[in-house]
Amino acid sequence: MNQWEVVIGIETHAQLATVSKIFSGAATAFGAQPNTQACAVDLALPGVLPVLNRKAVECAIRFGLAIDAEVAKRSVFARKNYFYPDLPKGYQISQMDLPVVVGGTITLQVGHGDKAYEKVVRLTRAHLEEDAGKSIHGYFAEKYVEDDYVEGPSSDHTGIDLNRAGTPLLEIVSEPDMRSSDEAVAYAKTLHALVRWIGICDGNMQEGSFRCDANVSVRPKGQAEFGTRREIKNLNSFRFLKEAIDYEVQWQINEIEEGRNIQQATVLFDPDSGETRMMRSKEDAHDYRYFPDPDLLPLAISADWIARVKNELPELPQQMRERFSNDLGLSAYDATTLTASQEMAQYFESTVALAGAVNAKLCANWVMVDLAARLNKEGKELGESPVSAAHLAGLVQRIADNTISNNIAKKVFDALWHGEGATADEVIERQGLKQITDSGAIAVLVDEVLTANAASVAEFRAGKEKAFNALVGQVMKAAKGKANPQQVNDLLRQKLAG
Ligand code: ADP
Ligand code: MG
Repeated sequence: MNQWEVVIGIETHAQLATVSKIFSGAATAFGAQPNTQACAVDLALPGVLPVLNRKAVECAIRFGLAIDAEVAKRSVFARKNYFYPDLPKGYQISQMDLPVVVGGTITLQVGHGDKAYEKVVRLTRAHLEEDAGKSIHGYFAEKYVEDDYVEGPSSDHTGIDLNRAGTPLLEIVSEPDMRSSDEAVAYAKTLHALVRWIGICDGNMQEGSFRCDANVSVRPKGQAEFGTRREIKNLNSFRFLKEAIDYEVQWQINEIEEGRNIQQATVLFDPDSGETRMMRSKEDAHDYRYFPDPDLLPLAISADWIARVKNELPELPQQMRERFSNDLGLSAYDATTLTASQEMAQYFESTVALAGAVNAKLCANWVMVDLAARLNKEGKELGESPVSAAHLAGLVQRIADNTISNNIAKKVFDALWHGEGATADEVIERQGLKQITDSGAIAVLVDEVLTANAASVAEFRAGKEKAFNALVGQVMKAAKGKANPQQVNDLLRQKLAG
């Protein structure tokens, strides 16, 4: 049987975070009443002309600079012609031959632990375009009857909402460089983090601000040519992206192994069944009859403008990752996790600034593990955390100087979370959580435990190492968890040996 290699290229639509549309002054805010944010241009009324939104272009420039691509000095808008009810002009304004961003790369960290590796994915291009409107089936009946918005229920109607028509998008196209669903997810996550980081897209996947199409093919390992690809449309969660690719890969391998050929096609993923199914074959593919839009001049971007945008770019996640690895000694995995968002990176940096760079690893663990888990459990964003970076830094310092053990630290964290103290020190003091490091005091506890647990002592002497752990547990219990675990271990060994 053949060994198969998976090949994946991803096209992403990122909705640009502008206040108004790409070719009109209508607002882009999400969730407004249908058709209240569509002006004459979006409705394609006769005689209107598009006017390019400078902010949308600036977003594209930011992106191009952030991925080290070429920002084209001259690019051209083209009409992509097709008929659909949510497309009033009968064409979408996009870019074809001359896109605004060419090339560039994105560096991924895939996997973690021993299996972690770095991978560079090349980008083909990124171009500006407008979004279409939206058809809403059964809309009147479901949503607006109660509000008397329409006169009666009519679930057999389909409504057209043109609020989204003309919303600016950046379509980002990767080279077919990914070789597994894990790499595809790492790519999508890294790109998602990047567009939010540089402030060009809010990244809200539920609202459709960031959606991916995955092009998938398989080929026998060692074969140079690519296999025929199928494109899975509109994946709006990382989990769906992975599930859809895994299913599709297995489906393609089965087809080929059973002697059939893969036909180029566009497919949809059904999250309920976990399967992909055919939407249209290559034969039904549209001929879009692209041509340059005569209503819009070629887009000229001056070197000056590019330089100005470059100046305003923040430190990028990739640069920050390298800094965290090189200066703070963090693993690539930790550095990647901490730079998943600007908020998280800033929180971590503030914690380290106060707790000291020598404690960076400890800070990283607390931010990535304990704090993240707690936020997740309580459904809170980092910005809403009752435990501030200053709180956490204070806590980390007390672990580092042995005032408290890691276990007790969890109690202190909990207290800080519930506002039971202004600082870690205050909580430790008030709740008497200070670690017992006085060896005389620990020795007393050890003696008591040895006397009271003769059976465990005998077992240990008979060679049962487990009995030793039980004794440690007893001493810690007697100390209410506050004895220094290392000292307890040492003293117990000493006394048992004696
Ligand atoms: P189209 O013009 O039909 O959109 P492109 O050549 O622009 O096709 O490719 C679209 C996407 O498909 C790109 O992300 C590209 O990397 C990817 N792709 C192209 N060929 C393959 C293949 N054989 N297997 C997997 N992905 C592919
Ligand atoms: Mg394409």
